[in-house]
Amino acid sequence: RKYLRHALIIGVTGIVGNSLAEILPLDDTPGGPWKVYGVARRPRPPWNADYPMEYIQCDITNAEETQSKLSTLTDLTNIFYVTWANCSTEEENCEINGQMLRNVLNVVIPNAPNLQHICLQTGLGDTNNVSHDPPFYEDLPRLENHNFYYTLEDIIFNEVVKREGLTWSVHRPGLIFGFSPYSMMNILSSLCVYAAICKYEGEPLRFPGTKEVWNSYNDASDADLIAEHQIWAAVDEYAKNEAFNISNGDVFKWKHLWKVLAEQFGVENGGFQEGENSISMLEMMKDKGPVWDEIVMKNELLATKLDQVGGWWFVDVVVNNDTRLDIMNKSKEHGFLGFRNSKSSLVSWIDKIKSCKLVP
Ligand code: NDP
Repeated sequence: RKYLRHALIIGVTGIVGNSLAEILPLDDTPGGPWKVYGVARRPRPPWNADYPMEYIQCDITNAEETQSKLSTLTDLTNIFYVTWANCSTEEENCEINGQMLRNVLNVVIPNAPNLQHICLQTGLGDTNNVSHDPPFYEDLPRLENHNFYYTLEDIIFNEVVKREGLTWSVHRPGLIFGFSPYSMMNILSSLCVYAAICKYEGEPLRFPGTKEVWNSYNDASDADLIAEHQIWAAVDEYAKNEAFNISNGDVFKWKHLWKVLAEQFGVENGGFQEGENSISMLEMMKDKGPVWDEIVMKNELLATKLDQVGGWWFVDVVVNNDTRLDIMNKSKEHGFLGFRNSKSSLVSWIDKIKSCKLVP
């Protein structure tokens, strides 16, 4: 088959990497036909085995391994960088994440003469509770504190000028709704596991966060929508060399989505309990490993351990932190009109998580 573009997805089993791997090879994907290469450290999992792509097991923190595994990909036209390392300090995040991106670019740029565009996924970028006043828009000045997103952006800016015609785009999602058991931050699969445990134990599904988060407006970013946004930027002239927010374009309240979550698992909606403090999910789940093992066995689910499928620290962050809304005006002004209904997005990802037998 003759391809028009050749994509390298770094982080192909992650929450957005999985959507890119599913969407890029489709016949009607803009800019195609796309040939797809996908990189991650672990062996190719069964839930991504059907995508027509070349899977490359490679640890991009290791410069030599990256050199040996990626230098042969001389046909690449596009990079989709959807990975990260979660270190204990932001200084370390800058160091390690910067090295990972450099390792990839140091190999691909000299070896792929047709490289045209790099999509870099970052995020809304508030750290250590330092933030601009939301809603966030793209042209706000950088904050004073360290942030590995700035490190990654600067590496891209420095590298693309070295190659004439090479362009970039930065994609900044908020909370991502998507599918991937290998993601470091997958709010929905963690909540599905929590709901399945509540159902199994006959307990109501209680909201573990604060009253403020329960009642406030939030927004989310559907993983397929983020993939569509990155593909748009890879192909469309109006999207080059720009940073964009990417969120669904609507708002939701957890108190409304919680009801939907409870319905999807046939569990009583315990909601937010007035007068009670928020409950730490990390604390609540610390002894539930054997319960999860039973649920997996009785329902013949994909073999997983609780600490693999439940990102409890991340749930704790999401349900206790002030809401940070962003706006999509810049993407619309540049021609991207994609959107998602967050409630439908929630339901369709829960369906996918169930159909891949991650939860009952
Ligand atoms: P995920 O955690 O979902 O996926 C990471 C992917 O990268 C996996 O495929 C993982 O597979 C792979 N990977 C990790 N380390 C390496 C490595 N050393 N070498 C090769 N592959 C590796 O990523 P996200 O999409 O969540 O994160 C991408 C960016 O999006 C980050 O900057 C994050 O902060 C940002 N973001 C994420 C949000 C979310 O809700 N998830 C919200 C907003 C922003 P394996 O482990 O097998 O290597």
